[in-house]
Amino acid sequence: MVESALPLRELAERPVTDLDGATGRVARSLAEVGIETVLDLLCYYPRRYLDRTREALIDSLVIGEENMVLVRVQKTSSRKIRSGRTLVEARVSDETGNLTAVFFNQPWRKEQLKENREAIFFGKVEQYKGRLQMTNPLVDLVGDRTGRIVAVYPQSEVARLNSWDVDRLVAEALRRVMKVRGFADPIPTNIRNRYRLFGRSKAFSGIHRPDSMAEVAESRKRLVFDELLRIQLELVERKKVFEMRELGVTHDGSCVLVDLFVSRLGFVLTTAQERVVSEIVQDMVRPVPMHRLLQGDVGSGKTVVAVAALLTSVQGGHQGALMTPTEVLAEQHYSSVLEMLSDLSLNDSTNLLGERPLVIRLLTSRTSATERRKIINDLSIGVVDILIGTHALIQESVDFNSLGVVVIDEQHRFGVEQRAALRDKNRNDVVPDVLVMTATPIPRTAAMTVYGDLDSSILDELPRGRSPVETFWEIQPESVWEVVRDEIAAGRQAYVVCPLIDESEILQVRSAEETFVSLSENELTGLRLGLLHGRVTRVEKEETMRLFRSGLLDVLIATTVIEVGVDVPNATVMVILDAARFGIAQLHQLRGRVGRGEHVSRCFLVGEAPTAIAEERLLAVVGTTDGFELAEVDLDLRGEGTVMGGKQKGRNDLMLASLRRDREWVGVARDVALELISHGKGLDDYPQLADEVQLFLGGEKAGYLLKS
Ligand code: ADP
Ligand code: MG
Repeated sequence: MVESALPLRELAERPVTDLDGATGRVARSLAEVGIETVLDLLCYYPRRYLDRTREALIDSLVIGEENMVLVRVQKTSSRKIRSGRTLVEARVSDETGNLTAVFFNQPWRKEQLKENREAIFFGKVEQYKGRLQMTNPLVDLVGDRTGRIVAVYPQSEVARLNSWDVDRLVAEALRRVMKVRGFADPIPTNIRNRYRLFGRSKAFSGIHRPDSMAEVAESRKRLVFDELLRIQLELVERKKVFEMRELGVTHDGSCVLVDLFVSRLGFVLTTAQERVVSEIVQDMVRPVPMHRLLQGDVGSGKTVVAVAALLTSVQGGHQGALMTPTEVLAEQHYSSVLEMLSDLSLNDSTNLLGERPLVIRLLTSRTSATERRKIINDLSIGVVDILIGTHALIQESVDFNSLGVVVIDEQHRFGVEQRAALRDKNRNDVVPDVLVMTATPIPRTAAMTVYGDLDSSILDELPRGRSPVETFWEIQPESVWEVVRDEIAAGRQAYVVCPLIDESEILQVRSAEETFVSLSENELTGLRLGLLHGRVTRVEKEETMRLFRSGLLDVLIATTVIEVGVDVPNATVMVILDAARFGIAQLHQLRGRVGRGEHVSRCFLVGEAPTAIAEERLLAVVGTTDGFELAEVDLDLRGEGTVMGGKQKGRNDLMLASLRRDREWVGVARDVALELISHGKGLDDYPQLADEVQLFLGGEKAGYLLKS
């Protein structure tokens, strides 16, 4: 390493306007796309590359398809057409032929596409009056770059930022850095060698000014690794610091209550349940607060695991809380937990009998004021052992005598702040253990990235004797209604999910009502139908659910309100109308409402697939009932959007890295972060890396990726 090679921080402190030529219009354009420093500029990576020797030529364009061509502008003209719009027409060519590009309402194209300029056009080619034509293609001006590989930068028409402006400035920045000092490389050499990573100087120059596409790939790999490593360092460090600072409850690991509870269940635990319960108990016995994510597909039996965690806390004289996203779920959990724990007693030496019954309470917005006061009082003196309620519980002024564990159902993100806030629920400044449960499996890479500061447990096994739901895709529903009638004749029940209408709740409700009326009058006439949607009152909703649960309704016609948690084992058919409108995760969740009992269950996805992607989604859901597999397919089809909002991307430190393309490297970065941090003084032993983590993820930018 050159003695005083440049750390990225120094480039982050140098305004881009220090570079020659970054003045006037160019400076304004750069500012508009958010490039303020030399580091911003160097991290403004090419969006594609043009290999001059290999790109398609005009005579090999395929009509009707999207193509990219490198052409030279011959002539550009502009005229007004009907309705006052402007039409710019550019005649372009290469050595093999001519092409016309037309642009509607983009008058500036006349200026942009000056005669003799070289440009890359990307768009669909059509034949129009015997000529090849592209309408509103994407245009990248190449500028005067020579060389085999041309880097094409994201350019903004609005900001008037040209690829060649960026290219020229990047070249200058690189030249200045290299001439004297080169880039400092904070990754220890042994790690660089182990994974055959380019040095940082080589990577920056190779991503911007490559000589071959192979060089691009290697450079990208190194820079992707840097991005992913910074995130993992931050997460692993955050976890370590939290565990060092916060005091948790050291639980009683004897499992007396848990064993008793399990022995009274009408079934044996699955191997996965046993494994996960033991992971949790081992964690709870440690003095540091647990923060664990439990992923378990629908029906994998998470409730039993949750109860085991609650009982572990109660066993040692502490309390437990179970929080759900909705009141319906809270009530459902309350009744099933009551049932599972009925006649379970605790040792109690203050009692003549030497034991007392377990006290479980439900607290929701519907709890009467008197009852509420009583519960809150009992919680604070430790008379209540287990409290069940909605997530709002945590915001309320509910204080516990000694809250040992909090189980959070169906909520992914439970951040550091929320976790630390739990400390205030207790008298003794102790942070309760936290178990977050989710039924929406998350791809491994995403779990590691977004939930990397949590430990993770996975329930990857369904209880024995359950036949997986058979799934069918039917374009027309006629035969499906026959199945529904047959099943009901055999004593079973069915769900029908109405077409999803995102635009408005009113339309959604209307669609549900229409489906209800039409099915009652036609296909399902004579059967007992119930209707559930977002606009029915709570009382009606409960009544409908009660009737359905007790078998007094045959078919429940509903919107996605039944998506989460509803558990009616006698229901064996799920019909999803217009299924192509739903995402994979939603379809999978909906399907999880059936197949919960001993009878064979079926799920029908009804309707056409309007796009190839929609078709792939439906086929994936037909093809497997494994939620983890589906999560991976979803990530492939939808990209990062599945795990982080599209808008967030670009604002965080994931500029090049993709959780989809770079799956393997997410794991590598995790391993390296653990390796670097778990010894000695942790991240403090690597001041340069620590500084970079701070630079990219600290300060204002900190949260985007890592917060909820
Ligand atoms: P989820 O993970 O979707 O929350 P639940 O905890 O609601 O699943 O469990 C679904 C159903 O499976 C419940 O009726 C539950 O009693 C039952 N169940 C849980 N574990 C087992 C098991 N090991 N064997 C048989 N049935 C089980
Ligand atoms: Mg559940």
